[in-house]
Amino acid sequence: ASGSNLIRATLFPGDGIGPEIAESVKQVFRAADVPIEWEEHFVGKEVDPRTQSFLTWESLESVRRNKVGLKGPMATPIGKGHRSLNLTLRKELNLYANVRPCYSLPGYKTKYDDVDLITIRENTEGEYSGLEHQVVRGVVESLKIITRQASLRVAEYAFHYAKAHGRERVSAIHKANIMQKTDGLFLKCCREVAEKYPDIVYEEVVIDNCCMMLVKNPSLFDVLVMPNLYGDIISDLCAGLIGGLGLTPSCNIGEGGIALAEAVHGSAPDIAGKNLANPTALLLSSVSMLRHLDLHDKADRIQDAVLNTIAEGKYRTGDLGGKATTTDFTKAICDHL
Ligand code: NAD
Repeated sequence: ASGSNLIRATLFPGDGIGPEIAESVKQVFRAADVPIEWEEHFVGKEVDPRTQSFLTWESLESVRRNKVGLKGPMATPIGKGHRSLNLTLRKELNLYANVRPCYSLPGYKTKYDDVDLITIRENTEGEYSGLEHQVVRGVVESLKIITRQASLRVAEYAFHYAKAHGRERVSAIHKANIMQKTDGLFLKCCREVAEKYPDIVYEEVVIDNCCMMLVKNPSLFDVLVMPNLYGDIISDLCAGLIGGLGLTPSCNIGEGGIALAEAVHGSAPDIAGKNLANPTALLLSSVSMLRHLDLHDKADRIQDAVLNTIAEGKYRTGDLGGKATTTDFTKAICDHL
């Protein structure tokens, strides 16, 4: 790629295993000759008063300007007077939908070999609104906020995604039998949007039943859309169906066409700095970033190289029962390219 054709993307290596797996992505992109120029930003050592968090204003501006980015896991330092890093990103960049594809990896045996699910999580409100307080001693209250605007927005995204990706069914996951007002409004919005997509089957499934069905027979589902907390839980459940957190990518969709891809897992302090981390989740996240940029050719090549390396079984990291280091595994992927 020549200098002028490079697309700029923001990269947050993040904490813990973050820099190790980010290095893996950089190497694989070089091997595949991906026309991306990374703008690297690190989590600051001090609270930036403009963001009230350890994330700098400049790093947020970088994502706003580039509109695409890749993020490693971030561990929020404990203490008062600042906002959580992930929450800051979600709020400041208005990352309203978290999309997590989850499919069985060929050659890596789990209980199921036909998992092919997309969970779409509302990312800005629900129980995550940060509105908790003590009423009197021994009694606390937490507010679950559901708005028509955010529910319509995530439902629109789910149906748009289903249509664009040739998916047949969208299931709205809820507990509206108990949370009548909040989940009731969420469902009402999903129904309104569903009417505009007559070609896509729409159904509503109560979350407890959904968990049972997912564990018994994941092929019953296709695209799932849900409020924030349910999305957090269900998407980890789905990750478990295909082999764990080291494998599952995600992408955050924000206002104005922003896409910030990230691995689902955290900073894994137990294995950080030991060259043991599995970079697959971040690599597959980078693949979804490339798809967002319509670089499907590069995305396909990298995805195939990652999946073939895992299927071959010669180089696998510890979480998949192998002995390979992060660098061995990365080199094997580059060789496949
Ligand atoms: P974690 O995901 O970091 O780790 C859970 C377990 O999974 C650990 O045993 C870890 O070794 C393993 N694991 C995770 N990713 C792996 C990978 N790529 N390869 C191999 N093994 C992997 O969860 P945690 O321990 O609960 O959280 C640690 C820190 O990460 C906390 O500070 C938390 O706040 C933060 N966190 C950040 C994000 C994010 O940035 N999106 C998400 C979750 C947790």
